[in-house]
Amino acid sequence: MRIEQTRRLHAAGVLPSPPPCDNVEALSQRLAALRLDFAAEAIADLLQAAVKQQQSCAAFLDAVLRLELERQEERRVAQAIRISHLPTGPTISNFDFAFQPCVSRSQIETLGTGQWIRDGAALLLQGPPGVGKTHLATALAMRAIETGFSVSFYRTDELLPQLRRDAELSPARLKHRKYMSANLMVLDEFGYEPLDRQAANLLFRVMNYRYVQGSSIAITTNQGIAQWPSILADDEVLAGAILDRLLHNATVLNIQGRSYRLKELDAQLSAAQRQERHAPPGDASTADTGLAHEADCGPSSASAAATSSAGQRPPASARAKN
Ligand code: ADP
Ligand code: MG
Repeated sequence: MRIEQTRRLHAAGVLPSPPPCDNVEALSQRLAALRLDFAAEAIADLLQAAVKQQQSCAAFLDAVLRLELERQEERRVAQAIRISHLPTGPTISNFDFAFQPCVSRSQIETLGTGQWIRDGAALLLQGPPGVGKTHLATALAMRAIETGFSVSFYRTDELLPQLRRDAELSPARLKHRKYMSANLMVLDEFGYEPLDRQAANLLFRVMNYRYVQGSSIAITTNQGIAQWPSILADDEVLAGAILDRLLHNATVLNIQGRSYRLKELDAQLSAAQRQERHAPPGDASTADTGLAHEADCGPSSASAAATSSAGQRPPASARAKN
């Protein structure tokens, strides 16, 4: 239909140059044979636009290739997000840095470049509930997908049953599991429940495999490192082995701020308190709730270069041979 129209316009002398191809359908099929499906679908429109805008051959080819690349990238990102099981919503841009002054925007933006994932480093986000640990881990994982990495997101209580089911799998099959193969694995809510010995051992297997492969892990936890042995079946040796691998090359974000979940409540209570101050003296409801306070950052975010003995982490290829 469009070809006919183009032909008629050309015949009437409206179009300055001949249509670039008589058989758009054949062109479309050739593009599809090359798996350039988006270009195949859009080729008639692109040709028409090219004729209308009197594009050069190079500009036309560029438009075709650009469209294909952009659409393929959109499809890759959408698929990777679906496979990752990341929660939807949290991004770096919708994180309120003013609310959580313990978190440095520039540090998060730097992490957002994904260099730490290229380096096979780890990220540990620790702090009390509601301070944005899961938000930031998710936002950084989303960035990682956009940058081209594969991601798998697990809450600890979802991962452990999977690990138990896979306990007897051979290493050859195990390495295809997403918790082993993804460039970045996010382990959310570690430490909310203590692990039994089997779970602790299975988790060690994952951490060790990923460490040897040079694959990154991001962990959110409400527990300090000193509590890890009690989370890991009271096994100091196992906890030490896990922490050694995790912190060898890690960024630790210690977020000691207010809970964002309580922000609304906080605001309501602050407003109520302001009102009460103007109320007659002796009113019992003027008690301090303790919720409205300045953020206390505690030991602020710190880049933990290493707590283990060796200095620089060897390259992934070298570690894989050990
Ligand atoms: P945590 O994992 O530390 O318990 P979450 O990351 O789950 O906390 O945060 C709880 C809720 O508050 C989520 O909906 C999250 O998106 C939101 N939130 C937390 N901190 C911020 C922030 N600084 N800016 C915007 N939203 C936030
Ligand atoms: Mg959380």
